[in-house]
Amino acid sequence: MNKIKAGYEILTPISEGGIRELQHIERIGRVCYKSEDRITEDGESAKKFVKMLISAHHEAMIEHSTLSVLFTVDRGVSHEMVRHRIASFAQESTRYVNYSRDKFGGAINVIDLAPGIALDAKMKGMSAETIAAVLGEWEQAMLDAERHYMRMIELGATAQIARSVLPNSTKTNITITANYREWRAYFRLRTASDAHPQIREVSVPLLAELKERIPVIFDDIEGESAA
Ligand SMILES: Cc1cc2nc3c(=O)[nH]c(=O)nc-3n(C[C@H](O)[C@H](O)[C@H](O)COP(=O)(O)OP(=O)(O)OC[C@H]3O[C@@H](n4cnc5c(N)ncnc54)[C@H](O)[C@@H]3O)c2cc1C
Repeated sequence: MNKIKAGYEILTPISEGGIRELQHIERIGRVCYKSEDRITEDGESAKKFVKMLISAHHEAMIEHSTLSVLFTVDRGVSHEMVRHRIASFAQESTRYVNYSRDKFGGAINVIDLAPGIALDAKMKGMSAETIAAVLGEWEQAMLDAERHYMRMIELGATAQIARSVLPNSTKTNITITANYREWRAYFRLRTASDAHPQIREVSVPLLAELKERIPVIFDDIEGESAA
């Protein structure tokens, strides 16, 4: 059983300073107002225009955008991600992937639970001893699940049948593609303090990185610290 850290990779190339992304939205949005003559090459008009669109709730214009992110999370978190209906997904299959094969090292991969516990409002204040005991139980459950999975395969079960004993902690790769309007809705829900700690673990740093790399679009979304 391998413990993997949750993470993400932004797959869509983002231009230097994120200006091209804003200029694309500006070009399209100014069709509505017939104000194309106000476009400036340095991107300053794009920043102002897109800011105006967002504050006027004219968010249909920012749908003219796309962003793909590859996440490494557990199956529990991925189940929350796929509830976002406007997005598109591609996810590692537990039907077709057989973790007993050599290329997977004959082991199941699980997402390390410790960082999730550290972000859990009720658990982060618990004693180190209690947390170690909880993690110990979890590790035992992961090893048990792995043992049963491998044994079922050995007995001739297909991966799609043996997967029934894989835990929520099983590591998965899932790519989400969505426009900026949908990503804004995603971040509002998935970085909030009442979101699941393990979805916050990847969503809070992703939002922070996007704020750095693309001006204006995500500036008004708070995104509580994952610390
Ligand atoms: C803290 C928290 C707890 C949760 N607990 C549960 C739970 O106990 N059980 C459970 O089943 N789910 C739960 N969920 C999931 C939740 O019900 C939503 O499925 C999920 O958050 C996606 O939200 P959404 O539908 O707004 O987003 P998306 O599907 O991404 O949609 C984005 C926006 O598009 C619009 N939209 C999309 N589809 C429609 C439509 N058909 N009609 C009108 N407008 C639409 C809405 O404005 C929506 O906000 C929870 C979510 C959170 C954040």
